Amino acid sequence: MCRANNLELVMADHAGFCFGVKRAVDAICDALKENNNKNKEVWTIGLPIHNPQEVERLKAMGLKVANSVNEIPENAKVLIRAHGEPLSVLNELKLKGAEVVDTTCPFVSRAQGLAADLSKQGYYIILLGDKNHPEIQGILGHVIDSNAAAVIKDDQEAKSLKILNNKAALISQTTQQEGMLAAAAGVLVSKFRELHVCNTICKATAERQEAVRALAEDSLNNKLDGMVLIGGKASANTGKLRDIAVNGGLEVLWIEDAVELEENAGWFKNKSKIGIAAGASTPEWLIKEICSKIVLI
Ligand code: SF4
Repeated sequence: MCRANNLELVMADHAGFCFGVKRAVDAICDALKENNNKNKEVWTIGLPIHNPQEVERLKAMGLKVANSVNEIPENAKVLIRAHGEPLSVLNELKLKGAEVVDTTCPFVSRAQGLAADLSKQGYYIILLGDKNHPEIQGILGHVIDSNAAAVIKDDQEAKSLKILNNKAALISQTTQQEGMLAAAAGVLVSKFRELHVCNTICKATAERQEAVRALAEDSLNNKLDGMVLIGGKASANTGKLRDIAVNGGLEVLWIEDAVELEENAGWFKNKSKIGIAAGASTPEWLIKEICSKIVLI
């Protein structure tokens, strides 16, 4: 908690980089430092993190970002991001002679491993999550038979799922809410003779969501006048934090950087105590920078 100019800030109990994102970003920084003055370029496939300010910082250090594996030059050093990649991409990189540093988050690797093992055992694999998200694409890319797998976004889609097998395994995107997994499992259990439910939800996500819920409860008790949420606008986990706060009755200002903070200086008028939260892809340096500027507004 800090106070200046009569504005009190209450930091969420869990905010900013989760373990997996920090591990991946640290590995990228190490690779860039090691390759300094050498000819080997350091690449990621897709943005390494859903935070434009952190991506710019890494690019300024020399990181190259490819849209697909086709853009990776031969013999490059390639960091696999925390979301992971399908097996086909890892195999293509091998063929290109790339030096691969795999920073797939261990929680995502667990979901990939379960998808591979259970599909080998003949389970129909049902992934609960966003079908366009790279993590889901990566897990799907570890299923042995892609015709024996489906992605559902919620229990409604679970209801309309066609039964193609008598045994199924339900695996969750790591950022799902537990209630969503329980609701999907509740529907599927009556559709298959055997249902194997894997709770692959990561604690880091739940902790950040819980911390925002606690801030919203404070606001109901008239202890907070609003919440500043710091994080990339393309970050799904940050978006979920916004939804939780708004549903909990909190007035939210979602900003990516200090420029947006200044543009929204009027939001702070007549506020004396506000919460601060940040998504799992928001770096600590950015949280500190914004907090130090808020108290000067
Ligand atoms: S949210 Fe969880 S699963 Fe995803 S990168 Fe962070 S620690 Fe890993």
